[in-house]
Amino acid sequence: MEKAKYERPLINRINAGLPDKFGMSRTMEAITHIDTIPVKDLIDEYGSPVFVLSEKTIKDKLSQAKKAFTTRYPKVQFAWSYKTNYLNAVCQIYHREGSWAEVVSGFEYDKAIENGVAGNHIIFNGPDKSKDDLRKAIKNASLIHIDHFDELYTIMELAETMEETPKLAIRINMDTGIYPQWDRFGFNYENGDAWNALTRIMLNGKLELVGLHTHIGTYIMTPGAYGIATSKLAQLAVRIDQKFNHKIKYIDMGGGFASENTLKGAYLPGTDTCPSFDDYAEAITNALINSEINPEDLPVLFLETGRALIDDAGSLLGTVLANKRLADGRRSTIIDIGVNILFTSFWYEHHIVPAQNTTQHTEDTTIYGPLCMNIDVIRAAIQFPLMNKGEHIVISRIGAYNMTQWMQFITLRPNIVLIDSEKNVHVIRKNETRESMTDLENVPEYLNPSK
Ligand SMILES: *Cc1c(COP(=O)(O)O)cnc(C)c1O
Repeated sequence: MEKAKYERPLINRINAGLPDKFGMSRTMEAITHIDTIPVKDLIDEYGSPVFVLSEKTIKDKLSQAKKAFTTRYPKVQFAWSYKTNYLNAVCQIYHREGSWAEVVSGFEYDKAIENGVAGNHIIFNGPDKSKDDLRKAIKNASLIHIDHFDELYTIMELAETMEETPKLAIRINMDTGIYPQWDRFGFNYENGDAWNALTRIMLNGKLELVGLHTHIGTYIMTPGAYGIATSKLAQLAVRIDQKFNHKIKYIDMGGGFASENTLKGAYLPGTDTCPSFDDYAEAITNALINSEINPEDLPVLFLETGRALIDDAGSLLGTVLANKRLADGRRSTIIDIGVNILFTSFWYEHHIVPAQNTTQHTEDTTIYGPLCMNIDVIRAAIQFPLMNKGEHIVISRIGAYNMTQWMQFITLRPNIVLIDSEKNVHVIRKNETRESMTDLENVPEYLNPSK
């Protein structure tokens, strides 16, 4: 065999901001109002920065998603992914709209119970469920999605001593054509672990297998991957029926639908490239209705969509602190929003615009946060108009994950307000104070300065 010809590797710099072949416009539309409330009023009243959530957008998105699925499949149930945004006010909106709760820790489980969610409407996912968590979930008839064999054995042990029959599903990971595979959660389909776990549950006698679960990843741009995943779960459902004459009640396809944010390095904006709810619904429901499952036994389709439902409903308002020139002459603008409260700036090119009309001229700009930390970059390269100190900016589509993954670092976390459907504004999480931080601290007696 002839030796393949060596070609040197080539690294291409991403030139963000340059006009592409579609001649994308560089002028920026200011966002002056959110749900009819002036941005300036919100900042004057609740401080800068401030997170703003729109109840109207939350409801609109959920109803779009529901419509996409319920028009294609008879039995659909949404469950709100708590970790995506577990502010109680937000969870309550979803629960009132009919969503169950999907939780991944004991803390989130207790939060759902406190929010009034019925135990049998809580889906308990995740690799970390303590024995006490599991006991509680079994008592409350919650749907426990097993992550690994050790968890299954703990549940078997508990079932021996408890009256209630645990309601179980297993999480299954598989090859759907998406790489790298998310094979760290649940039981693998291809290597037989999933079938092995299902068989052990069925043979046990004290456990009830109610469903099959997968969550193939997040920000999945290819609806076809969901089609493959659904077919594989449907095949397992058919095999269980054949071997044990047992029908599972539901198939849970998890979350992972992309929001319209733009990933770093993407050539086109997410608004142009992200699949719609209809695209995902088409792939999933086609795979279900075309499977070998008897039509009268079709399982309920559960969806745990997080990001795609709430990203659009969140905006982060802030203020320009300063402008300066970097060593290479490039302009930089410093704002009061840092990566500590905008965690998603590590992977998104966030949509960031002025909150008032500015000059039409834009310049290649780096937008930094306020932290004394080199990694605090909100946008590395953006065509941005000159904004003066004290002027306001709006960052859109930040409703998912930021209000749960944020951290207290250098500055304190700000207010979160909700604009309800009647345009009333409510603080739904107060800004932190120095006391709310130091209350948790303890200085040992010998270090106490007053001694
Ligand atoms: C995080 C998570 C979700 C929500 O994922 P999104 O990508 O935000 O839709 C759903 N199910 C499970 C098990 C999760 O861990």
